[in-house]
Amino acid sequence: MISVELEKWLYKVFEQHWSILNEIRDRLPVSSRGEKSYIFPWTDRLTYPDFVNDRKRFKAEVVERLFEYSHATGHKSSCKRSGKYKMIGFRGTPRKPVTVGGKQEIIPIRMVQCIDCGEKFSLLPSFLPREKHFSIDIIGIVVQGIMLFSQSINAVLENLKISCQGVKSRQTIFNWLRWMGTLHPAAALVRAGVTGSGYLQEDEGFEKEPGLRTYTVAMVDPRNLLVWHIDYIDHVDEATLCQSFEKFVERINFKIIGVTKDKWKASTDALKTVFHRLWIGFCHRHCLTKFHDALSKYQKETKCSSEEVSRLYGKFKKVLETSASQVILEVKLRSLNDNAFRHPLLQQRLNELKENAVHYVTNKIRNGITKTTSIVDNFLKIVKRKLRQVESFRDKESAGILFRGMANVRNFVPFLSGAKNAHKSPFMLAQGETYDLPWIQVMNMHNFFLFTPNAF
Ligand SMILES: [Zn+2]
Repeated sequence: MISVELEKWLYKVFEQHWSILNEIRDRLPVSSRGEKSYIFPWTDRLTYPDFVNDRKRFKAEVVERLFEYSHATGHKSSCKRSGKYKMIGFRGTPRKPVTVGGKQEIIPIRMVQCIDCGEKFSLLPSFLPREKHFSIDIIGIVVQGIMLFSQSINAVLENLKISCQGVKSRQTIFNWLRWMGTLHPAAALVRAGVTGSGYLQEDEGFEKEPGLRTYTVAMVDPRNLLVWHIDYIDHVDEATLCQSFEKFVERINFKIIGVTKDKWKASTDALKTVFHRLWIGFCHRHCLTKFHDALSKYQKETKCSSEEVSRLYGKFKKVLETSASQVILEVKLRSLNDNAFRHPLLQQRLNELKENAVHYVTNKIRNGITKTTSIVDNFLKIVKRKLRQVESFRDKESAGILFRGMANVRNFVPFLSGAKNAHKSPFMLAQGETYDLPWIQVMNMHNFFLFTPNAF
């Protein structure tokens, strides 16, 4: 009986496994041919023809260094993968991508063969995408404009008409956006070999849409500003948030030590369920804003002076910011003996602070826990602006793709000059390997655009 049940169970799991794989295959806009092409860092298309024709130099600089680029896809399963390849000339059909200026360039592509298993591979310079008709830099400019700088799709189409004779349709641009949002940000970052600090800021943004209440949930690493998780959800209850956090945790290969967040209980509980033994710090700014609101109501009711209001605010803020432990915070709260603090409106805030004291002092105890959630809040602001601009995402799947794309672009595009970390991307701040390439080529080098079923 046991063996029959086992057999049934195995069959069911197997079926599920295949249906998931097929689903992914159907969803993807690219074929899995991509795993037979390897990318090497080369950004200058003017010097590329000379380089690719110089057999000796190409061998030394690309073929003999292929193992460094952590490519391992496309070999026969029996392959020993010693990382040795022999050169077998050029691909029969060269690539002809559209480049800036609208010209179609002819790019010869070298091929190699694995010495162990005999499989053949194309070697693409990083300025070429794996499957697309356009040069990768054009795609980079377009997705960056739409996802970070609030350009509209219409504006982008007009610009493309001028810079490279236009694209055939909106669909081409949708495909590029889909392409950027296919991988979960955590999957992309792990693939590119960076790790998080182990500390995160988490927050949910309420997105008001006609007739709908939806939310975005995001997690950002305060040390390097990497967006590790973003999701689009219908509810912010514990079960939904657990599901969302699971998507993140199953993709990372490092431990989450602590999270700074607001005091929303459902998300605290969900975090505790998904991540074990987690330090949780509550955001001071959220707490101070609530106290400020309570003070405004208190002032309306009691007609007290504005000086009195700022004096009370100052006292409360000092307790919150100078307490180095739960005990000290409680002692300091008891010493607040102004009558005003006994008013129900303010008393309620003090009680909340006391109740959650342990979470409000975590930033003093653990170094990685930040005092506020300002970094994730900033990212959620960009997302909110985008959602307002396009007005509505009725389709949950495309909303998810767009948001993941935004996170991926944010992680790899350097900050503009004038910003605190000008010319550095979160990926660079996290010590990611850039090979001195433009951002979208960095993603290409790290196989961001390799969508094979076994990549998920
Ligand atoms: Zn092989």
